[in-house]
Amino acid sequence: MKRYFLIIDQGTTSSRVVIYKKNFEIFDIVQKEFKQFFPNEGWVEHDANEIWTDVKYLITKALKKNKLIAKNIISIGIANQRETTVLWNKETGKPICRAIVWQDRRTSEYCSNLKKRGLGKKIQKITGLELDPYFSASKIKWIFDNVKEANINLKQNNLLFGTIDTWLLWNLTEGKSHLTDISNASRTMIFDSKKEEWSNEMLKIFRISKKILPQVVENSFNFGSTKLFGEQISIGGMAGDQQAATIGQACFDKGQSKSTYGTGCFLLMNIGDKFKLSKNRLLTTVAYKINGKKMFCYEGSIFVAGSAIQWLRDNLHFFKNSNETDKLYKKANKNENLYFVPALTGLGAPYWNPNARGTFFGITRNTSKEDIIKATLDSLSYQTYELIECMEKDSKTKINEIRVDGGMVKNNNFLQSLSDITQIKIIRPKNIETTSLGAAYLAALQSGVIKNTKEISNLWKKDTISNANINKNIAKTNIKIWKSIINTVNNFY
Ligand code: ADP
Repeated sequence: MKRYFLIIDQGTTSSRVVIYKKNFEIFDIVQKEFKQFFPNEGWVEHDANEIWTDVKYLITKALKKNKLIAKNIISIGIANQRETTVLWNKETGKPICRAIVWQDRRTSEYCSNLKKRGLGKKIQKITGLELDPYFSASKIKWIFDNVKEANINLKQNNLLFGTIDTWLLWNLTEGKSHLTDISNASRTMIFDSKKEEWSNEMLKIFRISKKILPQVVENSFNFGSTKLFGEQISIGGMAGDQQAATIGQACFDKGQSKSTYGTGCFLLMNIGDKFKLSKNRLLTTVAYKINGKKMFCYEGSIFVAGSAIQWLRDNLHFFKNSNETDKLYKKANKNENLYFVPALTGLGAPYWNPNARGTFFGITRNTSKEDIIKATLDSLSYQTYELIECMEKDSKTKINEIRVDGGMVKNNNFLQSLSDITQIKIIRPKNIETTSLGAAYLAALQSGVIKNTKEISNLWKKDTISNANINKNIAKTNIKIWKSIINTVNNFY
C-alpha cells in the first residue's frame, strides 16, 4: 500500500513536488514557478503565503494526477532554498511581511558596519560563516528595525521565525511542529554549529529573541505529520537544498565533493566530523546529522549561475529556452577573448563583495550573442576552479573529481568547459534531481526503508564523465587572465 515518497523541493524560483518510488526512481514531478519581487536595487522578496499555497496545490496535484492517496505515501521529505527568512504570526498564521530571500543585499551596509566593529572573526568562529547579507541573521534584524508588526507580535508572544523548511513544516502540521533541521539552522548565522545550539552571543549581536526560534533536530527525524491531504502522512526528512544534494550525491566520505548548478552554484566538500574553519573565505557548515553522526563541509557559494542564463534569456532575449545555450556555445568564435564576471547580485566566495556588479571584458566589433553565452558558461567554470583551489588549500587534499547536478548540467558543452578549465573529472549522475533525492533518502532513513548511508552510496549511479580536452597550460593561462579580471572587478566595486 505505502509505496512512494513525496518530496517537496522548494527552490528559489520554483517549487517542485517529486514522487519517488520505493526504489528511488522518479515516478513524477510537478512544478510551479512563483513570483519574484524586486522592490529596490539589490532587494529580493518572496511571498511566503504564495509558496505555501503552491506547495499545497502541487501535493494535491501530484497525488491526483497519479491516482494516489495519502495512504500510498510512506513519508514526506523537504528540501528547501536556504537562509530565506520568514516571520509570521502564530495566531493568524500570516507572515508579517514578505520573506527576505538569500540573494537580497539590503543589509550590506549593516554587515559592513559589523565588520568594521571587528565582529567578522567572532562570527566565523561560532557559526562557520562569512559575515555577509546572504545569511538570515541580518535579514531578521532588518525586519525588526523596519516592520512595526514584528515588535508588536513579539511583545504579544505571537511571533515565530523560520526559514522555508520551518515555514512549510509549520503549515503542513497546522502549527504543531515548529522545528528546523541542523543543516538549515547552520545557515542562519545565529547557530553555533559546533555546540549544536542557538548562539546567545549571536542573538545578542543581531538583537534577536530566542523565543521566536524553532527547535533544531537531526535531518532524519519524526518531524510530525500532515492531515491536509486525507489520511495522516508523516514527515521524516528535511535538509537545506545544498546539503540535500550532497546526500543525494552520496558524498559521505571525507574529501568527496559535489557542485550544484541551479539558480546559484554551490560547491560542497565533505570535511569529516570536525568543525574546521576556512582560511580562504569558504564557509563551514553542517552537511548533515544522521543517526547521531554529524558531518561538516566546506562550501563555496556563487550567487549567480543559472540566473545569468535566465538574464540572457529574459532581459537580452538571446534565446527562448535555456537548453539552446548548449548548441549556441559551440557556435562561439574561438578567437574572441571575451570574459564575463557575472556578479549580477554581487560576488560570493571567495570574494564576498555584495557591491560588485556584472562586467564584460574584451568586447569587439565581432562579439556575438554566442560569444556572450560562452563567456557566461565559462565564467562558472572559472569560478568553480577558484573554489576548488580554496578547498584544496583549506583541506590539504586534492580534489580529483566532482559530482555535478542542477539544471545547468544538462548542458554537455558546459560540462566540457568545466573539466577543461578545472582539469578534473566531472561526473554527472543518472538522477540530477539530487536535491529531492537527498530528501527522499532522509525520509527513507526515518521510515526504515533504508538503514544507513552505505546503502545510499550503493544506490548512486553515474551517467557521464567529462575529462579535460584542452592542454593544462592553456587552462593555466586562461585562469591567470580570469583572476586578473575578477580581481579588477572586485577592486573596482
Ligand atoms: P533551482 O533549483 O535553483 O531553481 P534548477 O536546478 O532547476 O534551479 O536549474 C535551473 C537553472 O538552470 C535555470 O537558471 C536555467 O536557466 C538553467 N538551465 C536549465 N537548463 C539549462 C541548460 N541546458 N544550459 C544552461 N543552463 C540551463
